[in-house]
Amino acid sequence: MRPETACIHAARDKNNSTGAVAVPIYQSATFAHPCVGQSTGYDYSRTQNPTREHAEKVVAVLEEGAGACAFASGMAAMATLMELFSPGDELIATDDLYGGSIRLFNEISRKNGIGIKYIDTSVLQNVKESISEKTKAIFIETPTNPMMKVTDIAGLKKIIENKNILLIVDNTFLTPYFYKPILFGADLIVHSGTKYLSGHNDTLAGFVVSKTPELAEKISFLSKTIGGVLSPFDAFLVIRGIKTLALRMEKSQANAMIIASWLKKQPKVKEVFYPNLGAMLSFKVDSEETAKHILNKVELVLFAESLGGVETLITYPVTQTHNYIPKEEREARGIDERLLRLSVGIEAAEDIIADLENAIK
Ligand code: PLP
Repeated sequence: MRPETACIHAARDKNNSTGAVAVPIYQSATFAHPCVGQSTGYDYSRTQNPTREHAEKVVAVLEEGAGACAFASGMAAMATLMELFSPGDELIATDDLYGGSIRLFNEISRKNGIGIKYIDTSVLQNVKESISEKTKAIFIETPTNPMMKVTDIAGLKKIIENKNILLIVDNTFLTPYFYKPILFGADLIVHSGTKYLSGHNDTLAGFVVSKTPELAEKISFLSKTIGGVLSPFDAFLVIRGIKTLALRMEKSQANAMIIASWLKKQPKVKEVFYPNLGAMLSFKVDSEETAKHILNKVELVLFAESLGGVETLITYPVTQTHNYIPKEEREARGIDERLLRLSVGIEAAEDIIADLENAIK
């Protein structure tokens, strides 16, 4: 199946005797056994649930992985994933990441004895120089949040080949519709399913996709043991959202291209960060006052934290997504009071521009 077809049909409930086209919400905590020693295949919803299983299947198919596990949020997925590591292990991470990921690494993983080294992974030489015998994984976002730096995954994979180092990619921004990191050498993919996969700003979700059945089994064991799983109703919303992933990604990307080139022509916009792929972009204006003025004046565009939905959202990284990061560190990475981030939605580009134009005035 091609990706746009898989989005619609990979989660089909083939065992459903009613012919229901939508995957039903199996809102059941537990499942009755036919008799001693037999199971329907479902025992208890923390371990597996038919609706969640369908959401996992469609994401695994789209990412071309051996399996996927669905979690209650992207952070639940990441926290579970980090249980693959033991005290003394070291993880190399991109220095420009979603602030919540940095908080997890700094406050929880480090407390658990896992070393975290932040580097700019878009420069492969940095990666070469940072690897030690303790390195067990490299964690990247590409493009990064919010500075949109791109890491060459295939180049990275060459560096760690035969080194027993896992390559983990947060693919939230591009989704498997635009990019499938496993095909370029990633071992594990993380998603905030809250974003493009669900696509409507109406649910939280997270996924870990594994390249191999062995990794999939490990993640599934951790998932049922820790228990941060996706509920049946939220799994239903993710399945429904993914059905239109192809259309939404195409339209929001087309809008993002138009808006990026419009922003570049605005006198008060000093820099635009857009990798010419996907629908996330950041831009720097001439002053903090202009940035705040825009946030206060937008009407159609919503001033809100998050991304990847049908609505265009504008975010202020310094006080929202990246407020955890100390000021000097933030500023060294270019995240300052003049930076704004846009998650471009699927409205008419002209309407988004009209709203931004009015707000920038
Ligand atoms: N990864 C990225 C790139 C994100 O932007 C976010 C949230 O904004 C997360 C992970 C965390 O996901 P969630 O908010 O679903 O826990």
